[in-house]
Amino acid sequence: MSFSENVLTWFDNQGRKHLPWQQSKTPYSVWISEVMLQQTQVATVIPFYQRFMNSFPAITDLANADEDLVLHHWTGLGYYARARNLHKAAKIIRDEYDGVFPENIDEVIALPGIGRSTAGAILSLALNQHHPILDGNVKRVLARYHMVSGYPGQSAFDKQLWLLSEKLTPEQGVANFNQAMMDLGAIRCTRSKPSCTECPLKENCQAFFHEKQAEFPGKKPKKDKPIKQTIMVMFTNEDSVLMYKRPPTGIWGGLWSFYEIETFDELPRLEKELGLTITSKNELKGFRHTFSHFHLDIKPLQATVESLSDSTNGVIINENDQQLWYHLQRGANVGLAASSKTLLSLINEHIIEQPIKEKQL
Ligand code: SF4
Repeated sequence: MSFSENVLTWFDNQGRKHLPWQQSKTPYSVWISEVMLQQTQVATVIPFYQRFMNSFPAITDLANADEDLVLHHWTGLGYYARARNLHKAAKIIRDEYDGVFPENIDEVIALPGIGRSTAGAILSLALNQHHPILDGNVKRVLARYHMVSGYPGQSAFDKQLWLLSEKLTPEQGVANFNQAMMDLGAIRCTRSKPSCTECPLKENCQAFFHEKQAEFPGKKPKKDKPIKQTIMVMFTNEDSVLMYKRPPTGIWGGLWSFYEIETFDELPRLEKELGLTITSKNELKGFRHTFSHFHLDIKPLQATVESLSDSTNGVIINENDQQLWYHLQRGANVGLAASSKTLLSLINEHIIEQPIKEKQL
């Protein structure tokens, strides 16, 4: 049997066919699922996908939604640029394509956040168009099958794998083939323990034959990440804590976060700028958040501020909708930076479960 016949037969017998986004497939449903599945496992994605599609059942619902609500639905999935790009692309589809997902691959690739592989997956899985794909799972299968040297992201390596994917993708059954290749990578040809004896490609797989699965694909040479430090200040008043919306670009762009200072000496300046009066403060346990390019060591500082009027609690208080007294029990429909989630659980522990111990800073 040829490569594609082996893959298609395996798909008929063992491929995944009952995932939520595989029912009544449309370009929109495949698009959302493919973006969610980038760097996230199927089991994690399912509840996020269901919540997202319940809230935004059509492209225009997504386009018309407030960005905060879209990011709120993404909180916990990480990689928030993906959610912002989905939102931007939905607006383009609403405004330039009358809300109908484009069917031409070049037009799809031109949308924010959609690369060649995702575009190929959307159009092949939903519309049966003949396009190869090359996501992380497919790269791993092909790199091992042919023992291709190099690492993902290296242009010569990616180029060679695209050529192989083009060559191996069959004219007939492209939707099942592409789905099967992604499934094979996720279920059989896994990163650390591939189950080669159950793989439909084992007869001709070079890495299996030479027992070199662990060497393919190669790894990008590592660089030491720099370490940066920050102090995040959580101004609290009764059951609420002050947050602000970060600028759209930069780390955690468009997400809600806590005010930052570099040294404790800057606290009086920030207090004055925000028009607050601190009555007590408390340093909480610090932690590290790691980004792709650096580590960020975060020192949390909780500062209780003088009582505010009730009307300010839990509502957006400034003219630009950039500042919020976030209610610790009720929450709010906003996207939270990863650090904010950790800090909110720390503050909940300290404010709700334990009396705050005063500490002189
Ligand atoms: S035989 Fe093993 S290494 Fe080769 S494609 Fe299958 S699972 Fe991957």
